[in-house]
Amino acid sequence: MSLKGVITMAVTLLGVLALAAAASLVTLTTYLHRTTESMGEAVEGVRLAEALQVDLLSLARLPVSTSPQLPATNGHSLASTQAAVQLHLSEARSNARMEQELAMIDEVERSISAFFLAREGLQNQPAEEVSRVMGPRMEAALSALDRLVEFNVQEARVARAQADRWDGIANIIGIGVAAFLVLGGAGLLLWIRRFVFRPLLDISQAMRRFGSGRKRTRAPEEGPTELREMAHTFNEMANSLSRQQEQQLTFLAGVAHDLRNPLSALKMSAALVTSGRPVPEERLRKTMGLVRRQVARLDRMVGDLLDATRIEAGRFELSLEERDARELATEVVELYQSGGSSHDLRLLLPEEPVMLSCDATRIEQVLHNLVSNALKYSPGGSVVEVRVERVGEEALLSVVDRGIGISAEEMRNLFAPFKRMGRARETAPGIGLGLSVARRIVEAHGGRIEVDSRPGMGSTFRVRLPQSHAAAHPPEARPGESVPGPADSVH
Ligand code: ADP
Repeated sequence: MSLKGVITMAVTLLGVLALAAAASLVTLTTYLHRTTESMGEAVEGVRLAEALQVDLLSLARLPVSTSPQLPATNGHSLASTQAAVQLHLSEARSNARMEQELAMIDEVERSISAFFLAREGLQNQPAEEVSRVMGPRMEAALSALDRLVEFNVQEARVARAQADRWDGIANIIGIGVAAFLVLGGAGLLLWIRRFVFRPLLDISQAMRRFGSGRKRTRAPEEGPTELREMAHTFNEMANSLSRQQEQQLTFLAGVAHDLRNPLSALKMSAALVTSGRPVPEERLRKTMGLVRRQVARLDRMVGDLLDATRIEAGRFELSLEERDARELATEVVELYQSGGSSHDLRLLLPEEPVMLSCDATRIEQVLHNLVSNALKYSPGGSVVEVRVERVGEEALLSVVDRGIGISAEEMRNLFAPFKRMGRARETAPGIGLGLSVARRIVEAHGGRIEVDSRPGMGSTFRVRLPQSHAAAHPPEARPGESVPGPADSVH
């Protein structure tokens, strides 16, 4: 699982929870508000019913013969009591919400009206008659009001029970949300500690150990995707550094090995010359030839090493001059021929000059590398050809051998530095820098280097370089016409 996914999920969950809590709070407060309202209405209903009862009882105490406007001993007049009854009745009606309550108020109104009517018909009647007629009417009105009171009390109880229920639900929701937040938060913290901080610490520890020299240290690839990727990248970097270190050690071993061979040849030659014994001239000539070859080989190795470091550091410069490619090839081949090579080394040159604007030392270095490889990787006595040709506007320098050849698989990394192929490693010493340096030199001249090879049959290395502008269109050649130079001279 990815860190981004977990954080998105946690934030979404928190948002949904907050929304749900807010929605339930709004619903609960609305219901609670309604419940308090209906409880208030019920209490008001009880108050009004009791006020009506008080009105009726005060009316019962007024003498029947009293004038409507005259106040009785308790300060109430018939008219003011009737007005109070009407007011309380209309208030009770507007306070009532339910059909059942309205019907009860209608009944109360009817019984009070019956009470008033009976009272009017009893003017100047004896007191016994008044109490006989009014008694049951009063009882009927008071019990209608009692029922109204009872109804409202019942309503208030229902509202209270409802309020208790909503209160319970609100408590459950509150405790649930709090518990979820605490448990969810603790769970998230534990997850982050176990799956984020621990792998992160492991990676930083692995980096510190690696930095302090323990090169075998690798970071465990666990935890969320991002950290696994980070550990994987670190491990790949550590592997690549280890590989580079191994390559450097192999390279150093190769250099030491390659230096030892020419050095021991030089040591033996020096011992022969300085032994004090007379050395036959022929032997001396051969020994000096050997010395010359070994010194040239050492020179080339050191040159390749220096060039490789210059190329890596981006400090590779050319000092260009106009030179005939035939001269350069001749100088290189003559050096090898004079060195007493056991190969049949041939040079094929055109009659016309093949002019190059080039760094002559560098181009000679390329040819040296190719010729020395051709000699190294082909059996003694076999033919090695060096050809110079003009193909269109290009100068073509080829080195052909009939040696061990290069397989298709080996061909892929042929020009990579420090790469030495299986059979070549067994055949001859080398450090695997010559071809990579040669390619960089040729490319720096705006040219390219190509190989054709068949394992066991031999190899052809071709260097194509642009001819210098002056020589690209010799006076006798028409522009655009390619003039392939005949490979006609054999040395
Ligand atoms: P080195 O010769 O010092 O190993 P190079 O860079 O000159 O380094 O060559 C790299 C590799 O290419 C050689 O090790 C060898 O495997 C292969 N190679 C180069 N030239 C030839 C050749 N003419 N024939 C066969 N293999 C060759």
